[in-house]
Amino acid sequence: MNEEQVIIIGAGPCGLAAAIELQSIGISPLIIEKQNVVHSITQYPINMHFFSSPELLEIADIPFTTANEKPSRLEALNYYRNVSLRRKVRINAYETVTSVVPLEDRSFELHTVDRYGEAIVYRAGTVIVATGYFDHPNQLGIPGEDQDKVTHFFRESHPYTGMRVAIIGGSNSAIDAALELERVGAQVTVVYRGEQYSRSIKPWVRPSFESLVAKQRIGMRFSSRIIEIGQRTVTIEGPPGTDLEYLPNDFVLAMTGFHPDRAFLTSVGVTIEPEGYPTFNDSTMETNVPGIYLAGVVASRREANEIFIETGRFHGRKIAAHLMEHKI
Ligand code: FAD
Ligand code: NAP
Repeated sequence: MNEEQVIIIGAGPCGLAAAIELQSIGISPLIIEKQNVVHSITQYPINMHFFSSPELLEIADIPFTTANEKPSRLEALNYYRNVSLRRKVRINAYETVTSVVPLEDRSFELHTVDRYGEAIVYRAGTVIVATGYFDHPNQLGIPGEDQDKVTHFFRESHPYTGMRVAIIGGSNSAIDAALELERVGAQVTVVYRGEQYSRSIKPWVRPSFESLVAKQRIGMRFSSRIIEIGQRTVTIEGPPGTDLEYLPNDFVLAMTGFHPDRAFLTSVGVTIEPEGYPTFNDSTMETNVPGIYLAGVVASRREANEIFIETGRFHGRKIAAHLMEHKI
């Protein structure tokens, strides 16, 4: 049995930040990460720039400098990787936590599987769940969604050169993907359920997008939903009173956002409020199960994007203060 004082599940920016906050109070937590450090960021569009300026993404009081106004995905990978190495954060990479079992003495048994398929058991006094949301894209639940031509993850535009692509959603992922695809000569149609442009679109990006829509270089359908994805077409239901549209189509990018995996939390005994979010104390991040804490996006309440790196990076500080107070 491997004994640990604190185990953090997930080495995203918020799990890392929590680990370093705990170091500052004399605890050296173990992070168990099913891929590698800041795995979610490796999955982001290859040419993406963050909307946050670099200082708002900093953790551990280590400066994040970049020559540009907003950091690129690659710069963020460099930054978080270097912070984890400099601060000697203990990370067991390519190891997945499969269950957390509360024990009678208020500690926890964690079961994991490493990259070789070997099962490992740990015992920890405190567990911080920092599992993010990126593994759980919002599904549409429509016929044809399971085809290979449909993806919830946009990486780069080149494979879509000259193709007819429908993009579902009207927020930053959808708009960024549409702009990149238009540049490689894809015929892009954005299908958005909202009546008008979403307020979450980055304000410095929206004018370029609107201009391409005005020039009919990108098709835009408001108040619309794709209700079926066929092999060669998508069926679009528009505003009431309009006919169904059967749009020729090669690929579908469903940029419909993400949600945290609540099932993992409930399996440990964390309760879910009637509104659908986990029970936890805002000032300490401790859940209703004493000794289990949340950090980062997994603690989102109203909607998944309510917490992001800018805000979730401070959760570890609250947890460290609570552990100090209770001399854990
Ligand atoms: P994550 O970064 O998702 O980390 C969770 C980690 O847990 C992952 O590494 C995962 O592999 C691991 N994990 C999950 N389950 C297990 C398990 N069972 N066992 C072991 N490990 C597990 N935010 C900003 O503040 N500014 C921005 O400019 C910005 N731009 C963004 C751009 C895009 C395209 C996207 C999608 C998001 C952006 N965000 C931005 C949001 C931000 O990336 C997330 O809020 C952030 O990743 C949340 O960090 P986290 O540590 O909570 O979760
Ligand atoms: P998001 O902001 O959650 O947006 C999802 C979009 O899909 C919304 O427009 C939503 O409609 C729509 N949608 C959700 N479920 C749907 C369904 N079942 N059917 C039809 N439409 C549906 O997701 P995102 O754009 O992927 O962004 C995720 C996070 O990453 C955000 O924090 C975002 O700011 C960030 N991001 C940042 C950058 C960047 O910095 N460059 C780039 C991309 C993403 P409604 O608008 O009606 O809710």
